Amino acid sequence: MKQKYSSFTLATLLISILLASCAQWASDYRRDGFYLTQTAFESCEEPNNLNMVVELKNVRVHIVSDRKYFEWEKASAEDSRILGYATTANDIFVFGRKLGNQIVVNQAILGHELNHLLHYQNSMVANPDRLDIIEHELRAHGR
Ligand SMILES: [Zn+2]
Repeated sequence: MKQKYSSFTLATLLISILLASCAQWASDYRRDGFYLTQTAFESCEEPNNLNMVVELKNVRVHIVSDRKYFEWEKASAEDSRILGYATTANDIFVFGRKLGNQIVVNQAILGHELNHLLHYQNSMVANPDRLDIIEHELRAHGR
């Protein structure tokens, strides 16, 4: 069966394909990530009268272009999927990219690794690697 398409239909289809194929801007991804992260944060219980200070001294953030610069063998292995890590000596290792002439780090990864330093300093701050486990345990106990 032969089908006929109007020029309007073809133009609409072409525009739809072009719009669907446009990549999101990096800032769109960051905005969406911030929103989702904040939504997850707000789902946690609000504490009463929390006014905690965790002091971090001599924090060094290593911003690298390649995992060969990671100083932890597990992270520097070519097949590693580790995107950053923190040490109890207050070192953070993250990847850096370029935006124009400036260096950009993944803010979510940097925040996650900084969270590890807070946890190392004060175990009342949750280990960011255990948030899922803690949440599952709380739900299992109906809290
Ligand atoms: Zn972690």
